[in-house]
Amino acid sequence: SYLNDVKNRFLTLPKSAVEGLEHEPQKTDFNFIKKLGEGSFGTVYLVSHKKTKAIYAIKTIDKSLPENLEQKANFNREIEIMYKLNHPNIVKLYGHFEDEEYCYFIMQFIPNKDLYEILPESGKKPNIKLITSIMKDLLSAVYYLHHMKLTIIHRDIKPENILLDNNNKAYLTDFGWSNYMTRSIRTMTTVCGTLLYLPPEMIQHLGHDQTVDIWCIGMLLFELITGTTPFEGNDFETLALNISNIKKKKKIVKLYTKQKKNVMITWTKLI
Ligand code: ADP
Ligand code: MG
Repeated sequence: SYLNDVKNRFLTLPKSAVEGLEHEPQKTDFNFIKKLGEGSFGTVYLVSHKKTKAIYAIKTIDKSLPENLEQKANFNREIEIMYKLNHPNIVKLYGHFEDEEYCYFIMQFIPNKDLYEILPESGKKPNIKLITSIMKDLLSAVYYLHHMKLTIIHRDIKPENILLDNNNKAYLTDFGWSNYMTRSIRTMTTVCGTLLYLPPEMIQHLGHDQTVDIWCIGMLLFELITGTTPFEGNDFETLALNISNIKKKKKIVKLYTKQKKNVMITWTKLI
């Protein structure tokens, strides 16, 4: 067989191995060079393919973690969606494989950093030129997703999921929470993404659509400029109230206006 001997499969079988075109890749086909990052579900490594010397980023997902077992359907959707995408500002998925312990996603390597590492320290002057070019790239990627034949919602736009290459070109990645916009999702009360970026309609379980991505882009823009998120709270209840409460929201905007007028204008336009 062209497939790895795996009893407990998480993912759909890799197509080319099923068709007998090539063997399902194995961990030993690659040199694991260094760890690039860690997210809520996986760990990403820089690797080189031993035979071709090609460089990739591989996301590994530990199948033994009970919380990952629950995410099985999401991991499958993550790769299904990523295979469909072809956009200069979206990380490409080249293949996937698994063994008994891990799932592996073979992705395009983006050699620099994620946006989390460029957030300005509070009070420091933001690099508006860089932020503008990041926004242009990100909006192009999200416009593409939202205008697919079947609209795709990313649902987890945040600094950690946007990567910069050496020319400061931005790439959207991590489709772990993404989904197709269907009629059922409009009424679906799933809550996903990061708490600080959570849109009011998710907090209030009202159902949502692709505009949750636009909310998150607004949050991101605010954070890239100020180094802090617009809504805060010491516990979930307070945060949820602050996000849902329009009055409080306006207050935060006003507070900010006093310091930097031009920045506020950009932000209010977005919400
Ligand atoms: P998770 O689903 O666990 O959140 P991510 O796909 O977001 O995993 O990856 C976790 C981190 O790994 C990212 O925040 C980023 O720092 C790094 N990373 C992810 N993909 C790449 C890539 N293609 N190239 C370089 N670094 C990456
Ligand atoms: Mg992530």
